Amino acid sequence: MVDLIPSSDTVMQILKRTGAFREGHFVYPNGKHSPYYFQMPLAFRYYDTARVLAVALSRKFRVDRDISSQLPKVSIISPSSGGIPVAFGVRDALSAEQIYWAEQEGDKRRFRQYINKGEVNPSIMVDDIIRSGHAIEETDSLVKELGSPVIGCGAIVRFTAAPDKLGAVPIRSLVEFDAQMYDEGEDCRDCKKDVPVEHVRF
Ligand SMILES: [Zn+2]
Repeated sequence: MVDLIPSSDTVMQILKRTGAFREGHFVYPNGKHSPYYFQMPLAFRYYDTARVLAVALSRKFRVDRDISSQLPKVSIISPSSGGIPVAFGVRDALSAEQIYWAEQEGDKRRFRQYINKGEVNPSIMVDDIIRSGHAIEETDSLVKELGSPVIGCGAIVRFTAAPDKLGAVPIRSLVEFDAQMYDEGEDCRDCKKDVPVEHVRF
């Protein structure tokens, strides 16, 4: 089964082909500069591509005995809208019972109203991309408030600057990517060359 997980190169080819992986001179919403940007929904707009990526990620969880032994009484949780197609795909592949997702309401990340403590199965958190890790860390706290242990965590792409663990839980990904982020424009390679910047919204 492990052999059926596509290589990082294969996944990057899919992301390039669909326009999800982009090269240029980008300024992220937090002000950081990078020569790379991932607009992951562009890969998830094609059903077949979405399926390949989600099934591949699901296999990283399936091989974990602690996780596979708890199926199907597991909840797949997304920290934001970008992770929702990933969550549905992974749920499908693992036949997990539940799906939840958090949303940003103003400056606060929350689940929808009326989800009660004790209703959420042991959880696997999935996202399309983990850039800083803040979204999954915030969602981890929300899930714990609902009384659910987090038993797995993963994304299609994880930036190498982000944490590779959530507490004791390893963060699994199909691609580990060094985004070469610059905190300030003055350190940025492309700013020094006067390359025009593109501001990205997410
Ligand atoms: Zn720059």
